Amino acid sequence: MTRWQQQLAEGFSNSAALLEYLGLDPSLADIRAEQSFATRVPKHFADLMTSSIDDPLLRQVWAQGAENFQAPGYSDDPLQEQQAAAPGLLHKYQSRVLLILRGGCAINCRYCFRRAFPYAELTLTQRDMQASLDYIASHPEVNEVILSGGDPLMADDRAIAGLLEQLEAIAHLRRIRIHTRLPVVIPDRLTDELLARLTQSRLKPVLVLHSNHAQEISPVLRERLQPYVQQMPILNQSVLLAGVNDDVDTLSALSEALFDADIRPYYLFLLDRVNGAAHFEVDEREARALYESLQSRLPGFLVPKLAREIPDRASKTLVV
Ligand code: SF4
Repeated sequence: MTRWQQQLAEGFSNSAALLEYLGLDPSLADIRAEQSFATRVPKHFADLMTSSIDDPLLRQVWAQGAENFQAPGYSDDPLQEQQAAAPGLLHKYQSRVLLILRGGCAINCRYCFRRAFPYAELTLTQRDMQASLDYIASHPEVNEVILSGGDPLMADDRAIAGLLEQLEAIAHLRRIRIHTRLPVVIPDRLTDELLARLTQSRLKPVLVLHSNHAQEISPVLRERLQPYVQQMPILNQSVLLAGVNDDVDTLSALSEALFDADIRPYYLFLLDRVNGAAHFEVDEREARALYESLQSRLPGFLVPKLAREIPDRASKTLVV
């Protein structure tokens, strides 16, 4: 077992234990919320938290009673994704396809729009892999494959190398993009082997991290990222979350911390209305006002694009 896999196995798997670890009241954890979406938190991420129930990292991951509220306009599949083009493959945008390489994640974020996604049915299995590759090969307009999940870096380096080899054989592909939160929560996932395989590829790699708060950009993440930033663009996307990053100081600090780590702020998404996440919503009017303040505070290259996903649109929808 590699170091990162060991850390994966040792994480917190219930909110009461996490709260107790932080010196907080374990009875605040809500069993019903936890049953509908399990707790999963690596120790590295827990160690970046403070001993406050309002800690912005803790708020993203502990199962709380507010999740049981059935809010109008919220559903289990807010982006209407559960119609796959082939098993494990979504073709939402003309030139890009999304491969659901692995269903699970190293961390379960309570606001996740795929928290109710039927991964067991739609994840790419060995048997289905060929159907997905055939689909890509027969669509010459597709020039980029986005590895998604779950978290695609839950696949080990050998599995990623094997997939890359198959994708490299499809002549019209130009880029491979990896959307992942795993390096943020377990920086050791940024292995030398993964870097070597990505840089060898004829497909240009792009790494898109997912972090929501400057506290997540740890010294060890910065250190592990260093060899990667020399070789490929590293971008970041965030979700605008009430009680986590919905003020201009916090968003500015995040952009500054990203830039210091050679990561470019890319997108700031409005929440997708998935059941159980209504307490994280920042309404669009408030988001626009916040964004204007951010624009006046930061240089343009530190301001991510404010956007939301709307089902069946051919691209992300910019909000301003
Ligand atoms: S890491 Fe990403 S896909 Fe996984 S639970 Fe968090 S937001 Fe969802």
